[in-house]
Amino acid sequence: MSPSLVVTRFAPSPSGELHLGNARTALFSALYAHRGSGGRFLLRIEDTDAERSREEFVTALLADLHWLGLAWDAVPLRQSQRRGIYAAQLAHLEAGGHAYACFCSSAQLEASRRAQQAAGKPPRYAGTCRRLTPAERAARLAAGEAATLRFAVPEQGEVVFNDLVHGPRHFACRDLGDFILRRADGSPAFFFSNALDDAESEVTHVLRGEDHLTNTPRQLLILQALGLQAPQYGHLSLLTGEDGTPLSKRHGATSVRELRDRGFLPEAVLNHLFRLGHSTPVNDLLTLAQMAAAFELPHLQRSPAHFDTAQLLHWQRVTAHALSAEAAQAWLALQLPPDLPPGQREAFVRAVLPNVVLPADADEWVAVAFGPPPEPQEDAREALGRCAPGLMTAAAQAARDHGNDFKAIADAAKAASGAKGAALFKPLRAALTGRLHGPELGLLLQAFAPGAAQQRLERFT
Ligand code: GLU
Repeated sequence: MSPSLVVTRFAPSPSGELHLGNARTALFSALYAHRGSGGRFLLRIEDTDAERSREEFVTALLADLHWLGLAWDAVPLRQSQRRGIYAAQLAHLEAGGHAYACFCSSAQLEASRRAQQAAGKPPRYAGTCRRLTPAERAARLAAGEAATLRFAVPEQGEVVFNDLVHGPRHFACRDLGDFILRRADGSPAFFFSNALDDAESEVTHVLRGEDHLTNTPRQLLILQALGLQAPQYGHLSLLTGEDGTPLSKRHGATSVRELRDRGFLPEAVLNHLFRLGHSTPVNDLLTLAQMAAAFELPHLQRSPAHFDTAQLLHWQRVTAHALSAEAAQAWLALQLPPDLPPGQREAFVRAVLPNVVLPADADEWVAVAFGPPPEPQEDAREALGRCAPGLMTAAAQAARDHGNDFKAIADAAKAASGAKGAALFKPLRAALTGRLHGPELGLLLQAFAPGAAQQRLERFT
């Protein structure tokens, strides 16, 4: 593979729903890969933690990514199926003197941690088992003692890397502590399987959450010990709510599924995510291909990004109002009465689309159009009270003759009363919908059941 080709990946742990922060990570990773030609975006399911990983979350993750339109370029790797590969590489590290068996119990580790904290030192593994002789180690293993495998971090020096977002980073080795590569139950630890898989998949750029920044020096040490090429890492700023605290349930929807269930459209979600922690001069609604062309690593911001419902609603409005007639009907399908004839359905959706941002916004107009004749609201009642003499009678007569034809109704009302402009349209709208605002009447009336306009107008003659 040519070294200049970009390979990125998204590596979720299937222990929950696709959080908006992770969706943004997936988006940026997909965009960076698809920015030039030939790049690849991979998906890897990090399901080594059997207790927390659930198959239903894998299914949901795939469905959410699919809904967003983020397509991956190869069969997803499942870490749970790579145990043999991990075991071989761990043995390799151990044989090379880069890893050692640790027999410390959790109680011992906890005691050591407390002692370090009491002495004002940051807690890290004290190195107890690193000092065992090979013979001591072999004897304890032979006796069946449970052991983890720890990485032997070099005692001196530092790990330096150039973060794609944060610039040069330096970590002193003595601050890292010998970390676990394999748990006592035999399962590989995150640091290890994550780094190894990136290298084996020839990932060139890792974009991931800032919470992983301090993991990176450990992962670079592992890859160096294995003689494998490390990717470049970029750590994306935290996603917060509008108040600056980490995005959580308090802020409303935090997962892709919740937004989807509320009727948000994928393009709207993507357009908001695209601008979270990534500055762009482009203010138009963008397709994924356009976002890929406009995505720039130097435009990734270090400061936390605020998820902003008002911004999301802005993109939702723009997206919804640009839907094709067919897509709009599908989007609002659950809101509509089930047996609505196709002509009325089409007219209704065309009429109300400019008035809705989320499907639930259509409920009011469904009630107005298909429910019983609506009682006029206060301002509508006033408009009806000021209605020119003869207007309503002529309007009702026209509806009797021409059905739900608003032009015929308005023309007749105007000719009979001489009213025009607001004096003509307000009372008509008030009688027909009970409101003084709302969708274009000509279209809305086409959605009404036969005879509905006449029935509503006659109430005020
Ligand atoms: N499974 C890790 C997570 O979901 C992956 C982190 C990474 O992208 O390297 O946080």
